[in-house]
Amino acid sequence: MQRSNRLRDIRALTHDDIVGLVAELGQPAFRAKQLEEWLFQKNASSFDEMTNLPKKFREQLTERFAFTTPVELVKQVSHDGSRKYLLEYPDGTSVETVGMPSRGKLSVCVSTQAGCAMGCAFCATGFNGLSRSLTAREIVDQVAHVARDFGERVTSVVFMGQGEPFANFDETVKALRILNDPDGFAIGARHLTVSTCGVIPGIKRFAELPEQFTLAVSLHSAVQSTRNQLMPGVKKYTLLRLHEALQSYVEKTGRRPSYEFAMIEGVNDTNPEMEALIDFCQGTLCHVNLIPLNDTPASLLKPSPMHKIEALQRRLTMHGVETTIRNSRGNDIDAACGQLKQKQVHVQGA
Ligand code: SAH
Ligand code: SF4
Repeated sequence: MQRSNRLRDIRALTHDDIVGLVAELGQPAFRAKQLEEWLFQKNASSFDEMTNLPKKFREQLTERFAFTTPVELVKQVSHDGSRKYLLEYPDGTSVETVGMPSRGKLSVCVSTQAGCAMGCAFCATGFNGLSRSLTAREIVDQVAHVARDFGERVTSVVFMGQGEPFANFDETVKALRILNDPDGFAIGARHLTVSTCGVIPGIKRFAELPEQFTLAVSLHSAVQSTRNQLMPGVKKYTLLRLHEALQSYVEKTGRRPSYEFAMIEGVNDTNPEMEALIDFCQGTLCHVNLIPLNDTPASLLKPSPMHKIEALQRRLTMHGVETTIRNSRGNDIDAACGQLKQKQVHVQGA
């Protein structure tokens, strides 16, 4: 893997730049197409891989450009086959990415930001605030890294790692489109899932996209005061407005959003909380994922006991609300990570 802080990433070049570069280096015009294929379809991460380009041309490219692909600082492998990576970009920023194989499929959970500004009370990422947003290329490079490490095609991607995707909307959509490109990763839109903590302007823009990307919303409580405490960053996007935005989303797209509900003992597993959740969901198109909270060292919140989770599932089902209980994968590798555990959530649904 080549790295440099000085040289520009060749993948930042436009089509015209590449055509110009090929001419400047005295190569025939068709080399532009070959180079672009390596960069944007085969997702190469070094010039050495580009075996159909003349050696001299590859050397010239190496002198002028770099691949600013992230470097793997840590890899943890779970007994269930999931692998969690800590990847570092050239500026020293690092993020977590997870690869989850399952019956011939490979799902990747990507981060869209380093850190997060939303400050959710139960989330390990939120505790340290936001470092910076990632570029589309940096998000896609996480997927490429996992694909290379497993030596397999990635079949689905969940945007559920660190960060709030809709606080980085444009780069998130660019990344979705790169991953969806039939000449590149070719991951079907329905197999690309974005999870938001409920940023309403983002949900509205997401509904306008022509592609059938999947939406997940972190709900965690349908009682306003509880939700304000758990998710202070989205206080201004009230549950009433969130509900409206989700109904418009469903009307506009005909697609079913998932609601994430991490069950926290004594906080959102009480009777009134369950009533409120049923009210929020009943009669609407949605799928509820009940997740036992992952314990994080920085918070005193504890997961609800399984019998309560099962009881809520039964109640939701009785009211016609489709519900799944999800258990984390990679328990043994994820001790310090607040939310990268339950990304299995959409793997099976995707
Ligand atoms: N910022 C986005 C996406 C990243 S978080 C969002 O909040 O939706 C991905 C998922 O992990 C969210 O549903 C989030 O609420 C959940 N999560 C965070 N910390 C968790 C924890 N300790 N236990 C269970 N789920 C958690
Ligand atoms: Fe940010 Fe999502 Fe964590 Fe909340 S749950 S702090 S929005 S990453």
